[in-house]
Amino acid sequence: MGTIQHLAATLGDRNCLTAADDIAPYAVDWRGTYRGIPRAVLRPGSVEEVQAAVRACAAEGLAIVPAGGRTGLCGGAVVAENGPPAVVLSLERLNRIRDVDARDFSLVAEAGCVIQTVQQAAAAVDRLFPLSWGAQGSAMVGGALSTNAGGIRTLRWGNARDLVLGLEVVLPDGRVLNDLRRVRKDNSGYALRHLFLGGEGTLGVITAAALRLVPALKRVETAFVAVPSPDAALALFSRMMASGAEVIAFEIMIRRCLEIVELMGNGLRSPLPIDSPWVVMVEIAASHPAVPLREMLEDTLAAAMEAGDVTDATLADNEAQRATFWRIREDWPECHRRHGPAIGADTSVPVSAVPEFCARVAAAFAQGWPEGEFIALGHAGDGNIHISLNAPAGMSREDWRERARDAEAAVNAIAVDLGGSFSAEHGIGQSKRHAMATHKDAVALDLMRAVKAAIDPGGVMNPGKMLP
Ligand SMILES: Cc1cc2nc3c(=O)[nH]c(=O)nc-3n(C[C@H](O)[C@H](O)[C@H](O)COP(=O)(O)OP(=O)(O)OC[C@H]3O[C@@H](n4cnc5c(N)ncnc54)[C@H](O)[C@@H]3O)c2cc1C
Repeated sequence: MGTIQHLAATLGDRNCLTAADDIAPYAVDWRGTYRGIPRAVLRPGSVEEVQAAVRACAAEGLAIVPAGGRTGLCGGAVVAENGPPAVVLSLERLNRIRDVDARDFSLVAEAGCVIQTVQQAAAAVDRLFPLSWGAQGSAMVGGALSTNAGGIRTLRWGNARDLVLGLEVVLPDGRVLNDLRRVRKDNSGYALRHLFLGGEGTLGVITAAALRLVPALKRVETAFVAVPSPDAALALFSRMMASGAEVIAFEIMIRRCLEIVELMGNGLRSPLPIDSPWVVMVEIAASHPAVPLREMLEDTLAAAMEAGDVTDATLADNEAQRATFWRIREDWPECHRRHGPAIGADTSVPVSAVPEFCARVAAAFAQGWPEGEFIALGHAGDGNIHISLNAPAGMSREDWRERARDAEAAVNAIAVDLGGSFSAEHGIGQSKRHAMATHKDAVALDLMRAVKAAIDPGGVMNPGKMLP
């Protein structure tokens, strides 16, 4: 019996997909940039089935590409085009919340739980799972942890990594690393889970995680704010952080983003006139209803306006309005994708360097690609700015990729020069391996290769990803 038949016998035909139509959605990434046909798509329904699948694949030298919600933006969950024969191992059926403990402020979720489901499970016991971003309705726990996802609340609660207390992982040899404890303190040697967090499926398959919860938010205030420049945005950020309120999101957008959202967003409208060069979305929150958040926000914005750092602002008056504000930010990737070809980057710099970063990138683009359109938007409160260079109207994706192929490298170089990173929150996958080769410290790369060789000597886990 061949390996695929053996896997079909173990998992059942419905969970070992081989028909072209069935595997098609797993053969392309969210952006439609990376394509790779797997020999089969495996959908194990238990940790034991994951073990059996991994053992069978490893025995035959069949590579394993773990997949969650397949919203990753670096091609990590798609079989590498020129790589060895591989299966996609989808965790979608491992989707149980195993345990919620409000007193421990923790929850144990399987890898295939959608992030929004985890948020809902936390809310049901008056707690908050703070990880949040536009794809949270599709992204899954295993994918979020494997990419160390960030999102809009990193400035307050950190990345995915900071919200993990324990992990369960099936290793490439089929053993289970059971580190699913929920304790806050454990100094019993190397913190091995951190190898798998952000590991992009190159070291093992995450099957479950113990996640940290925080108190539920009882009040939230959100403002859409016009600012004259990134410098002014930074001044507002300092004011907000010193206002006594918990700042849980601080996003920046160049004006053109609002125009594109209005063009492509199926009726979405900017809550402010689109006449300011930059806008900021700020959200503050409290876990007690008596905190006078509205006053804090109004006072801070008024002071910033007096100082010339804010030119206009509107506050959400109710939950529906707040949701509309956020749709503008969260629908941006989809609107941008529909708008046309673009070269993108996922860079971070120290928060204080955001204005200089934006100015230097805009100048580099104006010089190298004057026909392109400079776009900057992102999580200004943690220094993660997503830069894009939009193609001129009518240019094909292929032609723009050829013409502007050095643009991303230019952005990465500026970020690194300012003490930042060429990969802030999306990971490396296939799309940033070349940048790894250029920017990653040589000693760090040596250690990463040594770790890979120690845990996955056969190289079965997600080949062609992350390591250059
Ligand atoms: C509209 C949109 C907005 C986004 N905004 C943000 C944002 O603000 N911040 C942010 O950080 N990201 C963002 N992303 C990127 C993406 O949502 C995240 O990277 C997310 O964490 C991926 O989760 P996923 O379940 O879709 O993973 P997938 O895409 O399925 O997989 C991602 C990587 O993890 C590996 N993997 C998946 N599951 C496992 C597992 N169980 N064990 C081991 N490896 C595994 C895969 O092999 C792959 O390398 C956005 C994406 C979209 C489409």
